[in-house]
Order: sequence, then C-alpha cells, then structure tokens
Amino acid sequence: MKERLGTVRDRLDAACRAAGRDPSEVALLAVTKTVPAGDVAELLDLGLTAFAENRAQEASSKVTEVAALRPAAAPRWHFVGGLQRNKVRLVLPWVTRIESVDSPRLARTIDSEVGKARDRGERDAPLPVLVQYSVDGDPDRGGVPDDGLDSLVDLVAELPGTEPAGLMAVAPLGWEPERAFERISEVFRRTRERHPGARELSAGMSADLEIAVHHGSTVVRVGTALVGERRLTSE
Ligand SMILES: *Cc1c(COP(=O)(O)O)cnc(C)c1O
Repeated sequence: MKERLGTVRDRLDAACRAAGRDPSEVALLAVTKTVPAGDVAELLDLGLTAFAENRAQEASSKVTEVAALRPAAAPRWHFVGGLQRNKVRLVLPWVTRIESVDSPRLARTIDSEVGKARDRGERDAPLPVLVQYSVDGDPDRGGVPDDGLDSLVDLVAELPGTEPAGLMAVAPLGWEPERAFERISEVFRRTRERHPGARELSAGMSADLEIAVHHGSTVVRVGTALVGERRLTSE
C-alpha cells in the first residue's frame, strides 16, 4: 500500500503542478469501502487521515474496529454513498461529513438527528455536508440534478443542524470526462457565489483525478488506486 500511496501522491502533485495549484489545496480522501479495518490502520500509519465509506452498517463496524486498532489516531470519516434516512442515526456518532446529501428529505432527517444529539448533549455543532450534484440527472446514480440543486443547498444552509460545505459529484459514465468536469466546476462556482462557506469540491477518483484537479477539485476520493482490489472476506 505504501507504494500505491506514493504513486497516488505523485499523480496528485503532478496534476497540481500542471494546473498551477498548490498541492495543499487538494485533500486525499481514501475510499475504504470493502477494505478491512487492518488495512485502514495501515493507511493511518502511512499518514492518511481521512477515509470514506459508502455503507452505513459496514462503516459503523469498521470505525469501531479501527478505533480499537489505533486508539491514539483521530481519523476523519466521510460518508459518500446513498444514505437511507433510517441509517442517519447509525452514522451520526462517527461521521465527520456526509458528502452525499441529495434530497430535502435526507437533509431534514440529518437536521433532526443532529438536533436530538444536541439535546442529549452529544454534539454542539451543525454537521458539515456536501450536496451531491448529478451531472446527467440519472436517478439511479445518486445526486440532485440541476433543477433541484440551488434549493437543496439553500435548505442545508437554513437548517440549524446542517451546514453547506460544498458539492460532491461523480463524472457520469458515457460522458466525455472533460465535459463532465467543466460542468461540475461551473456549477460549483455558482454555488460558492451563493454560499461562500461552500468551499469544497469533492470530485475525481482513481481514474480521473488529474482532470478533476485541473477543474478545481479540492477533495479527490481515491479507492482502487490506493488499496487495489482488496475486499472484506465476509462480502
Ligand atoms: C468507490 C467510490 C470512489 C472511489 O472510486 P475508485 O475508482 O475506486 O477510486 C469514489 N467515490 C465514490 C462515491 C465511491 O463510491
């Protein structure tokens, strides 16, 4: 994994240089879905601090296991998958940021669970979330399409339990990547004008992180390029 991490860091540095950006502007988020807790612990030892998961149940167990393996570490955990509203309660105790808010109903559920956690004295700040933008509007792949985006970001800003930290997007299959990231970057720029606190653009994965960095991504979510095809044996 050390070698893979070196390669990913080299790619990121080169992409930043080519785009005239400082490498410190782009955070590396390790996507550890299906990766065993022991491997996450190794990534922590290699200096990674932020991890992303896309299944509430798997992630909740893993977070506990990683905490037991590395009690002194303080990893940040992002949620990046489709989130059922009845699973919000499960992820809230450990999640640093939910990147996949794509409906008013989900935003309201997060707000309400944050409110309850606040009443129990378990949390005192709103949860930073990213609104997931759907470039092509395909309802099967998550994300809110153009026509619902502004009102969803406004809602996240209005609710006391959530705060808009930016946008997340995935380049749709079958789209020319350059065109997809141009679109994402334009929509992000507009969102940021409306909500200056929405600073993060989570875009780019193993296959397309260079193009994403070129178009202003501030967070790349990298899975296979870091951890290969490792899988939990229970899956
Ligand atoms: C799996 C996943 C990634 C990582 O994809 P790789 O191609 O393995 O780097 C990024 N974002 C989301 C939302 C994912 O589900």
